[in-house]
Amino acid sequence: MTVPFLDLGAATAELRDEIDAALARVLDSGWYLLGDELAAFETEYAEYCGAARCVGVGNGLDALTLALRALGAGDGDEVIVPSNTYIATWLAVSAVGATPVAVEADPATHNLDPARIEAAITPRTKVVLPVHLYGQPADVDPILGVARAHGLRVVEDAAQAHGARYRGRRLGAHSDVVCWSFYPGKNLGALGDAGAITTDDTELAERVRMLRNYGSRVKYVNELRGVNSRMDEIQAAVLRVKLTHLDEWNARRASIAATYLRELAGVGGLELPTVPEWADPAWHLFVVTHPERDRLQQHLTAAGVQTLIHYPIPPYRQGAYRGHPAVGASPIADRLADTVLSLPIGPQLDDESVARVAALLHSFATPSNQ
Ligand SMILES: *Cc1c(COP(=O)(O)O)cnc(C)c1O
Repeated sequence: MTVPFLDLGAATAELRDEIDAALARVLDSGWYLLGDELAAFETEYAEYCGAARCVGVGNGLDALTLALRALGAGDGDEVIVPSNTYIATWLAVSAVGATPVAVEADPATHNLDPARIEAAITPRTKVVLPVHLYGQPADVDPILGVARAHGLRVVEDAAQAHGARYRGRRLGAHSDVVCWSFYPGKNLGALGDAGAITTDDTELAERVRMLRNYGSRVKYVNELRGVNSRMDEIQAAVLRVKLTHLDEWNARRASIAATYLRELAGVGGLELPTVPEWADPAWHLFVVTHPERDRLQQHLTAAGVQTLIHYPIPPYRQGAYRGHPAVGASPIADRLADTVLSLPIGPQLDDESVARVAALLHSFATPSNQ
């Protein structure tokens, strides 16, 4: 028996009839871009997030890039980003011509440490860009506090956090603009690439709406130097189906996380996720740390359990940022890259598999049982 990290085929199979009907609706409509499905998804997702507006775009990287552009971030500006994140967060900053400035994580939550932001602010700083990594909400209020005190804008990277709540309220409109990815493996995933922004700022939403479609509001009238980054009707129709199952699927993730937290407490060397009392995570990933991470991963692989590392190389150590002026040493990001391990979690993972993963972690910690 093998335990997959995430079974996307099983997820699609579970909703196959509903997805087939949604696809048929698009095929029969004869309208494939910027139509009724996208308009409906934007309304439904904005409502789900408690935001005034949602604008669908081509992918999560474009959501971040267009949000930064719409806020006017560009050449000569600095954007504060976590040292510990997926590289897309940094690449979006670079894509608009601004410079990513790394701030370390709180070692307990692995998310941007609000207490370290102030020291990274310079006269060039324009935006603070926290990430809700693994689906764990970042501590938004103190981040907003320090940003507002310095006249900075805040963009959230919520690509891993669909449905997560911060202080009881769903992510989607706590700051200036929130960016989403619907990459197939995310908690709300399309059958290809898709992304969106949500915001309460209707003018900002309108700018992103223009930027995603050649800077145009009215066909053949181009007010901005926009791009082509439109969420297509097929992805929008599929996401509308999946959105109606998101809470139920997130609840299953939370139940698996609760089992791991209960069953793995006290396993030697293993550090479990820390969940602050103000956080309701989306449990996109269940990330543990272990000083002998590579050997632990081999132990699980040998027993047929798939695990992944999010992420093995921090952005500042990637070739893409070699020689980058703002890059300093990030020992916390380095230590996380060397010790993190993501255990299998997903709405289709059964109890037997979860028990098997937990048993294998216990047998690793107790060599006599190996
Ligand atoms: C997935 C992801 C992105 C990028 O999304 P794409 O849709 O793949 O472009 C950005 N940031 C984070 C934290 C992500 O996990």
